[in-house]
Amino acid sequence: MIKDNLKSITENIKAACEKSNRKLQDVKLIAVSKKQRLDVIKEAKDCGVNQFGENYVQELQEKYTSINNFDWHFIGHLQSNKAKVVAPMISMLHSLDRLSLAEKLNKALTHQLPVLVQVNVSGESSKEGVSPEQLSNFLKKLESYEHLQICGLMTMPPWAESAEDSRKYFAKLKTLLEKHKPELSRPELFKELSMGTSQDYPVAVEEGATYIRLGSVLLGQRK
Ligand SMILES: *Cc1c(COP(=O)(O)O)cnc(C)c1O
Repeated sequence: MIKDNLKSITENIKAACEKSNRKLQDVKLIAVSKKQRLDVIKEAKDCGVNQFGENYVQELQEKYTSINNFDWHFIGHLQSNKAKVVAPMISMLHSLDRLSLAEKLNKALTHQLPVLVQVNVSGESSKEGVSPEQLSNFLKKLESYEHLQICGLMTMPPWAESAEDSRKYFAKLKTLLEKHKPELSRPELFKELSMGTSQDYPVAVEEGATYIRLGSVLLGQRK
């Protein structure tokens, strides 16, 4: 089942790469495993998926302690008081959106953690993320945290009927990446774009996604 899903997803990514003149290996797949059973997650790993994304701290803790050698990414809203428990379990945080969180994470870490800044590209008031207007200032402040490696940007576009509706938000995130890259002290690290879900990942790949975050289309419906 997951094997078949992965096959058609890979074909779609390939097609999107061809259309946009990109390399397949530049698009990394995160299997979003929130609310999925352990056997489903293990099946995905057996099919060759090796990076998993979680949204909830307690769920991540449970999975982290019951299965070994998984590469976990945190992609959901993270409360500052949970930074300490989450930091040692993950290889990347996709949803850094507040300085208070950066502060707590930096304190909790003893190594460098790759982080992506979540941007609210649509400006919807209900959405988490730094506004495009505040991004420059936010990045400047982040640079003072020695344990955070600023590797790029992440976004969740507003809910849309059609994937094409998300294209402009993905394009905007890429524009923001290029715009702010020269402002950073290590611009060579600032190259990741985490964007695209089951709904719209082919469009996200065409617009430059380097991480796509796929849940239901890969692992099936959530509990
Ligand atoms: C749940 C979730 C996804 C995956 O959603 P699907 O529609 O199941 O692919 C991706 N990113 C974030 C931030 C999520 O919360």
